[in-house]
Amino acid sequence: MKINDKVSGYDIDVMVIGYPGKTVCHGGLGWSTIVLLRGHGRVAMFDTGGMGVRRHLIHKLKERGLEPEDVTDLLLSHAHYDHILNWTTFQHARIVIGREELAWAAKEPWGRTPVPELHVRELQGWKTLHAAADGEEVMPGITGHIMPGHTPGHLIYVVKGSQYDVIFTGDAAKNRAEFLCGRTDMTYDPAVSSATVAAIWTLWRSRPGNIVIPGHDIPMVLKDGQPHYLAKREDAIKAWFGDDIDTMTTLELSIR
Ligand SMILES: [Zn+2]
Repeated sequence: MKINDKVSGYDIDVMVIGYPGKTVCHGGLGWSTIVLLRGHGRVAMFDTGGMGVRRHLIHKLKERGLEPEDVTDLLLSHAHYDHILNWTTFQHARIVIGREELAWAAKEPWGRTPVPELHVRELQGWKTLHAAADGEEVMPGITGHIMPGHTPGHLIYVVKGSQYDVIFTGDAAKNRAEFLCGRTDMTYDPAVSSATVAAIWTLWRSRPGNIVIPGHDIPMVLKDGQPHYLAKREDAIKAWFGDDIDTMTTLELSIR
């Protein structure tokens, strides 16, 4: 899904749209948004998804005539497995993550949290790592900003366009519901998260037509002060409930 033509010299292409839900009996779901940005001689990705999306992601790149080796920059929002795990697929790329985020993630206890500890340990010493500071211009026209609450050093990224901005919020605000009510699921401090959601609202409202791309929802634009989706929801799973391998049942996971 392309949300616009050129913003700040970039083509912005939402390759995988995240899902605003969790399972009932099987723990987390972790279906997150992955975005491709092309421009200024770079091929960048915002977040990488988790293990389950890896082959799908490689396929999505192939559809666009790209191999993983063509990706020059990764902009990572935070150190949860469903956003950073596939950095190893793009190990040659320049890998941007918040300095504070990486330092925090490296201290998380092994085997207890959604931080993929071995991936984080390896990333810490990786030759193409770029641990970014708060407010830094991490690529031409793109800045990263610490927005804590979900994790302590979570970065959102703002692409400054000539007409409007595109804001990758990651899990600082995961979905439309969190934006609208100002409260969040999975926060280490609800007050910090609420302040973060308010700060993102301020950025969102700062120019007409600004777009937010949340970590687990469809990109949205403001119309009359209300968030409106820029695409139709398409979410489903297939399962074997019958007696043979060729028969699968498709279950829709959206309300249309
Ligand atoms: Zn997360």
